Amino acid sequence: MFFLICVICGYINMNYTYGPVPSRRLGLSLGVDILPFKTCTIDCIYCQLGRTSDLTIERKSFFPKEEILAEVVLVAAQTNPDYITFSGSGEPTLNADIGWLIREIKTQTGKKVAALTNSSLLWMPQVRSELMEADLVVPSLDASTQEAWRKINRPHPDLDFKRMIEGLVTFSNEFSGELWVEILFVKGINDSPEHVESLFSILSRMRHTKVQLNTVVRPPSEKSALALSYKELEAIAQKLPPDTEAVLPYRKSGKQVSAHGHKELILAAIARRPMTIKQIEQSLGIPPERSKAALEALITENKAAVSLHGGEDFYEAKQ
Ligand code: SF4
Repeated sequence: MFFLICVICGYINMNYTYGPVPSRRLGLSLGVDILPFKTCTIDCIYCQLGRTSDLTIERKSFFPKEEILAEVVLVAAQTNPDYITFSGSGEPTLNADIGWLIREIKTQTGKKVAALTNSSLLWMPQVRSELMEADLVVPSLDASTQEAWRKINRPHPDLDFKRMIEGLVTFSNEFSGELWVEILFVKGINDSPEHVESLFSILSRMRHTKVQLNTVVRPPSEKSALALSYKELEAIAQKLPPDTEAVLPYRKSGKQVSAHGHKELILAAIARRPMTIKQIEQSLGIPPERSKAALEALITENKAAVSLHGGEDFYEAKQ
């Protein structure tokens, strides 16, 4: 095993887990990242992690699955999250061990497991079957036409739009857990009335427990990816099925996680996704004045950078 545990305070040097972070959707969520950075089947223009460096549809075991499981079990016991969530720096279903991991994590932690997916591999029966044991699956559906899909999600050339949609529809009707469809809107690309209408047609063929509308809330891969206002999202929600809701920018959680080695914790968190000082406070429990000092030190050491998005400073780790 490669993770390190501090014998004094129990702090764990995490390779596959991050957080728990207060999620807008899941309460306190312990993230599990089972892919090398930016290994994905698509290359979304709104991706907060930058361009996809390994655009692939080849499923494989990227890391020893027993090592991932051992770390998740240990961190979950220490942090008591509401959900253990497969997400992170790429498409989780590319990892061929995801089915085994979902099963073992549920058995060994007794926690609920969620999986986020961009839906691109749901046409594979094996992938659908591996996600069956999750308590919650959050598949993305940003595009209802091939043209919009190419513009917003920039898929691997071997992926087929119709096959992807059929896989998503089939999965939604086979899966008996919670299914929250996420649609991310980018101004001028997938927010036209015609496009929203065809999204409605696809959604009406699916079984879903919730449809959540989102927009570009963190610095995107392409500066041209512009956000909609909350009011615009709400107007679109009115045209979609009744279980649709526009997601508010951020919700506060009462739970906090203890901090140890602020600089290291913050660096690990902003290596996963860009964050504001407020989000660092909410997710790691580090007071703003301390995170500010730590971030300034990280910038001086050339380990982090800051960029302005939507009127807020977002900090991210330099790769
Ligand atoms: S947003 Fe998710 S699905 Fe899209 S490129 Fe980034 S990691 Fe892949």
